[in-house]
Amino acid sequence: MVAVSPFGARQIMSLPRASLGFFPTPVHPLARLERRLAAQGPRPSLFIKRDDQSGVAIGGNKVRKLEFLIGEALARGCDTVVTAGAQQSNHCRQTAAAAAMSGLECHLVLGGEKPSRVTGNLLLDQLFGAQIHWAGEHRKGEDLPRLVETLEEQGRTPCLVPYGGSSAVGASGFVAAMDELKAQIRAGEIPAPTHILVASSSGGTHAGMVVGAALNDLDTTIHGIAIDKEEHGGGTYADWLVGLTNETAALHDLRKHHARIDVSLDERFLGGGYGVVGDLEREAIALLARTEGILVDPVYTGRVFGALLAMIRAGEFSEDDRVLFWHTGGTPAVFAYAEELAMRPASDT
Ligand SMILES: *Cc1c(COP(=O)(O)O)cnc(C)c1O
Repeated sequence: MVAVSPFGARQIMSLPRASLGFFPTPVHPLARLERRLAAQGPRPSLFIKRDDQSGVAIGGNKVRKLEFLIGEALARGCDTVVTAGAQQSNHCRQTAAAAAMSGLECHLVLGGEKPSRVTGNLLLDQLFGAQIHWAGEHRKGEDLPRLVETLEEQGRTPCLVPYGGSSAVGASGFVAAMDELKAQIRAGEIPAPTHILVASSSGGTHAGMVVGAALNDLDTTIHGIAIDKEEHGGGTYADWLVGLTNETAALHDLRKHHARIDVSLDERFLGGGYGVVGDLEREAIALLARTEGILVDPVYTGRVFGALLAMIRAGEFSEDDRVLFWHTGGTPAVFAYAEELAMRPASDT
């Protein structure tokens, strides 16, 4: 990791960390897409950060969090990790792989019932040797404490990885990611972005980025595009996100140095809800694939990229803006959504 902000770097350095991913992930312009959108009117410069290439088990953003979460589990002497998510959870797939890499047993509590067809992330969970527990309606880890107890009774030493990896420790992966971005800007790999768009769902990615941007004096608006309209942590998602951002800021002693941090959550693109593919996602997935040869996923990054296109078309950015689309991964879900994505070939606009 490249130390940029002496204070932020010192906090990061003091946390236990497992080396799991391939960092820094690449950044590059989206030149063909830019030219194509230019035909429709003024548009900002566009760039992408490739956390879909983070290196563990087909990549994704959870690897950054897991470096700190697995680091903590190993430091505490755990031999087992348990976590939870939806049936096609990218977080669970990356946790299963990180556990395999680290010699830990992995238990996953997944929402829904065992499906007749095993595909996408669920197939990969099994290949990585994770033990799967089906939880019906409880896809956000409601059943984790009971599983931890059972495993303890069986003589194991389990560590709980929170839903989505989103605790202040997990979010530290994205504090470090902003150190990484700052170093790439300094090295001239991309210009400093005026706006960053990223999916915001369990919150650790967004919260860590907000804190990391402040620690690195990055003057950029981080637009968290909300993905899931359901309640979170017993209240609204926005409340949860602000709470997590404050906890992450406290862990990194941000308040001593910065009076105020802004959390910008955009809830306009929730569509049919979590995991429901609509025209926004379908068109975005097809456009990026056909113009740049890059895959975004049906649940998270397809929605964020669709939001970016809608915001450009609505004139929400100026020609002087430099917009960074942060690709958070999710690629295996493409296969699980084959029917939704293949049913109607997307239009080219
Ligand atoms: C989990 C996930 C996100 C959202 O990150 P959070 O930290 O949970 O808000 C975005 N994109 C993909 C592909 C994910 O798997």
